[in-house]
Amino acid sequence: MPVVEVPVAPLLIRAGPGSNLRDRTTFPPFARCPVAGRADGTYLGPDGQPLRHWCFVGEITRGELRPVGFELAVTDVEGREDVRVCYERGDGVDVRVDDMYGRGVSSIGDTLVVLYPYKDALDPDSNRLIVQDPTLIQVIPHKLEELLAFNDVFWSTSSKMCVAPDCVKSGSGLMQCSGCRAATYCSREHQTRHWPTHKRDCKVAAALSAFTGWDWTTYEAPGFRFSQNTSDSLQAILHSYSR
Ligand SMILES: [Zn+2]
Ligand SMILES: [Zn+2]
Repeated sequence: MPVVEVPVAPLLIRAGPGSNLRDRTTFPPFARCPVAGRADGTYLGPDGQPLRHWCFVGEITRGELRPVGFELAVTDVEGREDVRVCYERGDGVDVRVDDMYGRGVSSIGDTLVVLYPYKDALDPDSNRLIVQDPTLIQVIPHKLEELLAFNDVFWSTSSKMCVAPDCVKSGSGLMQCSGCRAATYCSREHQTRHWPTHKRDCKVAAALSAFTGWDWTTYEAPGFRFSQNTSDSLQAILHSYSR
């Protein structure tokens, strides 16, 4: 009989303030994103300093190379199509088309996540969002609707119950999956039984846990960054151009 190894850890549900993916202030649609340098009382104070964290999330529909960067077309959380997320290298070095597509950067249907994007101050009525630092960008290889579905499970009260089928145990004796820190179990036996089902979902939930673990309602310089170790992240790919 094969040994099933499942990740397990003590229960620690850690949901940071404002970290629900449905929160339209933390995760604004394009229409609510701030304009660079313009005080709005929510994202930017009178001196243009950030008042809190924010993050644009959208589904990638198309990718285009620009002379010194790229432009990705995405659909935002409220279904607005063709929002252009624009990145330009500061040093003017070309990003090569072959490299971009060869590395699967522009993955249609994947979720693009951008921290602290701004509308272009020179053209705030356009459909462009500007991002200048590749460590603020990440591509999550899952559909946005999948992430939202897990988000809703995480925030529902039932997430404090054992998620194994036909089990209704809840309370302080629960353990959590150490892979995603979202799925909870009453026992190792139930976790092991659920693992074949949870295995794939665990990756989606783990991608989500990066957001739910943070407090989004304040701003502490220099702000959030994505970790360097996500092989699918755009940041990792872009860093490879810095040779
Ligand atoms: Zn159970
Ligand atoms: Zn898991």
